[in-house]
Amino acid sequence: MEFDTIAAISTPMGEGAIAIVRLSGEEAFAIADRLFKGLGSKKLKDVPSHTIHYGHIIDPATGETAEEVMVSVMRGPKTFTKEDVVEINCHGGLVSVNRVLQLVLNQGARLAEPGEFTKRAFLNGRIDLSQAEAVIDLIRAKTDRAMNVALNQMDGRLSRLIRKLRQEILETLAHVEVNIDYPEYDDVEEMTHRMLLDKSRFVLKEIEKLLQTSQQGKILREGLSTVIVGRPNVGKSSLLNSLVHENKAIVTDIPGTTRDVIEEYVNVRGVPLRLLDTAGIRETEDIVERIGVERSRQVLKEADLILLVLNYSDDFTEEDRNLFRAVEGMDVIVIVNKTDLPQKLDMGEVKELASQYKIVTTSLKEDEGIDELEEAISSLFFSGSIEAGDMTYVSNSRHIALLNQAKNAIEEAISGVEMGTPIDIVQIDLTRSWELLGEIIGDSVHESLIDQLFSQFCLGK
Ligand code: GDP
Ligand code: ZN
Repeated sequence: MEFDTIAAISTPMGEGAIAIVRLSGEEAFAIADRLFKGLGSKKLKDVPSHTIHYGHIIDPATGETAEEVMVSVMRGPKTFTKEDVVEINCHGGLVSVNRVLQLVLNQGARLAEPGEFTKRAFLNGRIDLSQAEAVIDLIRAKTDRAMNVALNQMDGRLSRLIRKLRQEILETLAHVEVNIDYPEYDDVEEMTHRMLLDKSRFVLKEIEKLLQTSQQGKILREGLSTVIVGRPNVGKSSLLNSLVHENKAIVTDIPGTTRDVIEEYVNVRGVPLRLLDTAGIRETEDIVERIGVERSRQVLKEADLILLVLNYSDDFTEEDRNLFRAVEGMDVIVIVNKTDLPQKLDMGEVKELASQYKIVTTSLKEDEGIDELEEAISSLFFSGSIEAGDMTYVSNSRHIALLNQAKNAIEEAISGVEMGTPIDIVQIDLTRSWELLGEIIGDSVHESLIDQLFSQFCLGK
């Protein structure tokens, strides 16, 4: 089959700062070659498949350089769509990527509809329909919320907040200067210390609040990492299958799903879950032997959500108790399964141990309780600190790193005041945090930072 060439902005998972214009179709290379300069006399259509090239996008109408880019060339059929694919990586954010998209469209590509790349993959026989639907659902679910994050940032919510904090710091620094200039007043030192502490603590608290949102940003992009644990035979695999069948598994293009942990992506009422079933392991061999204590601990430690499965028709055992211990302090939903069978489990004991957790009873065999479980999952997620739409999420790893550094600088300033460090030293720490916050919104970005950013994203693609 042959189709026209489509293009769209596609932002890769987990890389907020990078934006990609993706082209797919017969004309992909030709269109890119009309815009791209960087290979001397060579053309993208002649380079080996699956290679990346540095260069510039030139506006053919004016001859001006529009953007600095990295271009990936992937020749069909070894691509997601089975067609020729070109990805233009722009590092200049939304404005830059939109400009490149516009140029690509001017050259004859058509703007792809949502999910159209996936549709192509299906039409070209790369994936089957249920896979295609699942991917499209995931894209929708992910983008609805992920888009809000992006839109919020575009909206300048984060920038406004950062500006406000910088203003606070600047005013504080100014006050300190004034106080230093008028030392003849009584208790001016005392006053200066008081003010420095108050203001610094305020800024610190605001930065901490922002940092707390970063975890949620990650979840939106990568899915809530959800681990199913329980003794052998309690119904872990059945649970995974139920969740997958009710919600359509997301078949990802991501390779490397390990054999020892089964991994599925599902969309539960708008919550993207990355389900990890440790079941397969236990059934064959002792978990300790198969993956080693370390590996299973690691899987648990990195989980955002634990689904702990118990057997209603069996006694509560020492192993169950150990599981509760292993997941202490995490977000846990307890699932009491096999309620179609005669009761043996002491529910009083379960309720006592699981007092701070939500308990859901299910009979996976009879298809009962899945709705309640889905409800529990979505309310746990949405009732948390995430409030519908009007929150500022920090989801960009560079921003997170800068916020952490700014936080450290503020903490230095606070402990400096507390320990009676000379004011000019405290001023240095405050100024430092002011600069770091500025880097987030691009107010004091150095050349080297841009280089670094760019090289990072080149590696990532
Ligand atoms: P796992 O070892 O924890 O992964 O457990 P499985 O999901 O493989 O289930 C073990 C056995 O229990 C299978 O034979 C399932 O069919 C059965 N099973 C799972 N859920 C239920 C249930 O709700 N009721 C009954 N009666 N059997 C179930
Ligand atoms: Zn199983």
